[in-house]
Amino acid sequence: MLPVVSHATGVYVYDQEGLEYLDGCSGAINVNLGHSVPEVTSRMHEQIDRACYAYRTQFRSQPLMRLTELLVELAPGDLKHVEYCNSGSEAIEMALRLATLIHARAYRPFKCTVLTEEPSYHGMTAGALGASGHPLRRQNLTPLLANQATVSRVRPKHGSLRAGVHDWEAAIERIGPANLSAVMIEPVGGASSGAVPTAPETLRRLRELADQHQFLLIADEVMSGLGRTGRWFGCEHAGITPDVMVLGKGISAGFAPIAALLASDKVADAAGQPLGTLLFGHTMAGTPLSAAAGLAVVEYLKAHDVPAHAAEAGEHLHELLQGLRQRHRVISDVRGVGMQMALGVHSDASRFPGTSLDLVEAARREGLLLYPSGVSPALESVMVAPPLVSTDTELDELAVRLDRALTRLSPAAP
Ligand code: PLP
Repeated sequence: MLPVVSHATGVYVYDQEGLEYLDGCSGAINVNLGHSVPEVTSRMHEQIDRACYAYRTQFRSQPLMRLTELLVELAPGDLKHVEYCNSGSEAIEMALRLATLIHARAYRPFKCTVLTEEPSYHGMTAGALGASGHPLRRQNLTPLLANQATVSRVRPKHGSLRAGVHDWEAAIERIGPANLSAVMIEPVGGASSGAVPTAPETLRRLRELADQHQFLLIADEVMSGLGRTGRWFGCEHAGITPDVMVLGKGISAGFAPIAALLASDKVADAAGQPLGTLLFGHTMAGTPLSAAAGLAVVEYLKAHDVPAHAAEAGEHLHELLQGLRQRHRVISDVRGVGMQMALGVHSDASRFPGTSLDLVEAARREGLLLYPSGVSPALESVMVAPPLVSTDTELDELAVRLDRALTRLSPAAP
């Protein structure tokens, strides 16, 4: 049975029994500033006293307008058109609707296939799950996934963990670029692959192909966005600007539900009307309270240059994890970018007769929270993605607890 949470502060969460857990995966890899940050909660309290809710078609709100300005300032290129919703999955749905709608409006209804990757994870709503290359989460739900006829997937060639340039080129050729409405990709893999990055040259080639064949390049930065990878956005590692960027988790860092879609001028022009009217929002989209949380978080990220800290902290974390890999035969590899890291777990029973869930459970018993990942035995892994603001001392403590957890599974080499 799950423990009952009592309170949480910084990188620590406490249950009602008084047990302490070091948050080695930032909740669901979203609590990027740690727990109970006064600079954020005080701003939320102020907003609660002012106005929690105003309907998006009736009012704008100061925090939402300022958050929009800030996201536009930070985003690469001309991603200037922003729409809000409550979760990463909903924002992915908006991106899929947008890709379909703009081609339909341009009298190109045949351009309706979305190409995604297996492995990938884009969310749990019907469209987002249908687009996800995550067979386990799609299992038994096919009748609900209405977009199966219009989603195609690219798989990496045998031996690689993510699709490369040639895999994508072949898939685009197979579908016929004239039929393609969008390519959607995680610049750095999340729970699907366990933090395996897309090679920068792959992202750059997809950018070229999208321009050449007039399909949208959608970057799912729900997990990688807003500092997680040591840069503001995962795409920056490849120096590209997507046509549409989807943000979620990192905007409010767990303080309130909010997610966003950012679109380029070209996309907004093709839409021909304000995106909000085209995309149909949700009742709770971009409420003043969620916006106040998001604004306080993003201002904090900027004021403290948290992405740069995440890059440095990520190097330290990488060294610590490599050290553990030397000692524990359970670990196959250490991968990831910045603070979006994972330990590959051997699927070979002679090295480790368990699964990533066993490691997550062993870690929990040692007071460490981790996140299971991987959609296939080859990708079996555990994500290690602590708050971006973690200090070296906190990361050292994480490694001590992880060492103990790994020792529980199989004794370490001397
Ligand atoms: N896209 C990616 C890359 C994710 O990691 C997630 C969630 O884990 C989602 C989309 C879905 O976001 P949400 O859980 O907020 O709906």
